[in-house]
Amino acid sequence: MIIVLKPEATKAEVDAILARIASQGLKPLHLPGTEKIVLGAIGDERVLVKLGLEALPYVERVVPILEPYKLAGRQYRAENTVVRVGSVAIGGERPIVIAGPCAIESREQLLATARAVKAAGADLLRGGAYKPRTSPYSFQGLEEEGLKLLEEARAETGLGVVTEVVDPHDVDKVSRSADMLQIGARNMQNFALLKEAGRARKPVLLKRGMSATLEELLMSAEYLLVEGNTDVVLCERGIKTFSSATRNTLDLSIVPLVKSKSHLPIIVDPSHATGIRALVLPMSLAAIAAGADGLIIEVHATPETAQCDGMQQLTPPQFKELMAEVRRLYPVLSVRRS
Ligand code: PEP
Ligand code: MN
Repeated sequence: MIIVLKPEATKAEVDAILARIASQGLKPLHLPGTEKIVLGAIGDERVLVKLGLEALPYVERVVPILEPYKLAGRQYRAENTVVRVGSVAIGGERPIVIAGPCAIESREQLLATARAVKAAGADLLRGGAYKPRTSPYSFQGLEEEGLKLLEEARAETGLGVVTEVVDPHDVDKVSRSADMLQIGARNMQNFALLKEAGRARKPVLLKRGMSATLEELLMSAEYLLVEGNTDVVLCERGIKTFSSATRNTLDLSIVPLVKSKSHLPIIVDPSHATGIRALVLPMSLAAIAAGADGLIIEVHATPETAQCDGMQQLTPPQFKELMAEVRRLYPVLSVRRS
């Protein structure tokens, strides 16, 4: 960390800061200049955050050198993390696909969709039992009944299930039914929920908030990791931009960037990123080409009857085609990924 002091800082003030740096176990540096006084701290500067040095009247600027995240960073762990959900390895040799309806609407709808995605080769089943909806008048999900239906779909198909938890008080309950907890875009910075999910003994799929930076996404992952949950998978699901052509703007460049800065796997959700069924296949292929560790795709047995996100949910034949295209593309890229 570099600390730039205002020229009027006195020797006593300089010494006070140097002493505070040393008190945290870091090596203080003093680089007096003619125009500015520059101090440095050598060591893991992140412990200095709590000192609040930037608030001192004689401090002009504090410039961190290290990334603010620690456990999520490549410096902490050089090799890729592989997250296991049952027998499915996310971040391993090949990209995985999570598929299923936006929301669980009925037993028939969930089971028909689960059978279809299983037959097409999906690795895990998704389905929302608790739906965070923009409008309080929209369908909010079947809640506990939905969790039971997910258990039934798992028993029948053998697919592990991924479902969203929206309330910290529900983490235990959802963990009992789910194989992987999903934290949605709207809750990426719900820190109480992150702490609770960090204590859960289930892998977490952490979706990027629609206005979150890469650093904010990794800091949210840090909340899970610091609580002891190391099974964290990130998900790019589109961000808000000026463009209204698609529901969100798929920010694919974050995939290789996350991979360079973090050891955590990252998957892509082209369904919520585009909101348009016809764009899900091409954006899925683009995501895999960019190095994503997998996809999460909304599929509905009859999208025309869907209670939410009907425009973006694939039909079973469309999903089958997507799986075939992904399988065709991936081997071509495998040399680059090794
Ligand atoms: C979802 O995947 O069900 C969902 C609500 O997505 P997001 O949180 O990305 O909006
Ligand atoms: Mn949806």
